[in-house]
Amino acid sequence: MAEELNSFKIAQAQLDSAAEMMDLDEQAHALLREPMQTVIVNFPVEMHDGTVKTFTGFRVLYNNARGPGKGGIRFHPQENLDTVKALAAWMTWKTALANIPYGGAKGGVICDPKQMNEKELEHLSRAYVRAIAKFIGPQVDIPAPDVYTTPQIMAWIMDEYSKIAGQNEFAVITGKPLEVWGSEGRFDSTAMGGMYVLREAAKLKKIDLKNAKVAIQGFGNAGMFAMDLVTKLFGSKVVAISDSKGGVYSEAGLDYNTLVKVKQSTGSVQNYEGADVQKISNEELLESDVDVLIPAAIENQITAANADKIRAKILLELANGPVTPEADEILANNNVFDLPDFLVNSGGVIVSYFEWVQNLAGYYWPAEDVYKKLDAIITKSFNDVIATQNEYNSKGKRIFPRTAAYIVAVSRVVSAMKVRGWF
Ligand code: NAD
Repeated sequence: MAEELNSFKIAQAQLDSAAEMMDLDEQAHALLREPMQTVIVNFPVEMHDGTVKTFTGFRVLYNNARGPGKGGIRFHPQENLDTVKALAAWMTWKTALANIPYGGAKGGVICDPKQMNEKELEHLSRAYVRAIAKFIGPQVDIPAPDVYTTPQIMAWIMDEYSKIAGQNEFAVITGKPLEVWGSEGRFDSTAMGGMYVLREAAKLKKIDLKNAKVAIQGFGNAGMFAMDLVTKLFGSKVVAISDSKGGVYSEAGLDYNTLVKVKQSTGSVQNYEGADVQKISNEELLESDVDVLIPAAIENQITAANADKIRAKILLELANGPVTPEADEILANNNVFDLPDFLVNSGGVIVSYFEWVQNLAGYYWPAEDVYKKLDAIITKSFNDVIATQNEYNSKGKRIFPRTAAYIVAVSRVVSAMKVRGWF
């Protein structure tokens, strides 16, 4: 029987292979294989019928050698400690690769937000903060939204934490609404960051984005903004798009505004109509004949089973974990330039960092400044990855951009631990 995929074991295995490639010190490796702090809390929440229910929540601080923890909070019925630990590890690498002054963290509560009303969600959010208040803070660990948590939930959490602290603490959490000092540009920051990476990748591979054909899997927060931006910024043609129900293909290109209306009125992009529009499956979308493929939906979409059929020249991983480790090798052999998730989708956490900086300074920037600073940071990350890949390749060690990104990130965390005297 196949062993169930354990996200934390995968995160550890990824670290192990980077450690081997970079001859990592054994003591540093051991420190980085486990989270520094794991908090499990059980807390009461009053439900709408007056009964009290006990919920379980987690907050994991994976590593804080480079700064306070940073990572989202998920409200999900299948939330579990191993997933939170894995996500906290990945946040450590993501903030280190972006070279922003944070460590990595993650949190979650086992609950089903779809079965709860607004008041119950508010009670749950506030009770969770009271339970973990000792372990978060603007200089300790700064949460953010993730699966099924919203800007409104961030506002409640900030408010409850401020009551405990006895003063406004806007910098305790990011992803807040603008009214309580969220950042301009936060809403499309993940897709925007991905676009800057795409621009650099196309430059390097000499691909003209103006005439490029693009396929995007997923039409949620990440995929929708990616479609809008890739056409607006570069004039590329999005020929294929999908959601969980399936997709559509048009050689002439799909219209963004019409797609938004179709998705809103019918629930799926598959109902988009036009003279040359064909319905396609998600499998067909991934294999379509395009220059750029953007997986922006869920994990494990490109595997050993279909990697050979990917025809795109650039694979921009806007989703988390869309490509399995077995597929990496096949894609590299076929000259597909595969850019790893924790580089491509780091725009969200980078703009979260800007939100925190603005909160601490009490001085707020216009959207243009946010995008300009995001561009500078993510372009530098891309260049660091390519420089590291070239350096290893020139030493005869063939590595993928993903491994190079790991090496950059892990080296930065290790250097901080070393200079602090942790090993
Ligand atoms: P979302 O829930 O807004 O949208 C997900 C989209 O994927 C929807 O269109 C859904 O229909 C589609 N989808 C679901 N299952 C599918 C399937 N089996 N096949 C094809 N499509 C399917 O989520 P999102 O915020 O857009 O996130 C998408 C991915 O991007 C996730 O992997 C997420 O972790 C990653 N990501 C998002 C952000 C962000 O700021 N939104 C930041 C970092 C990473």
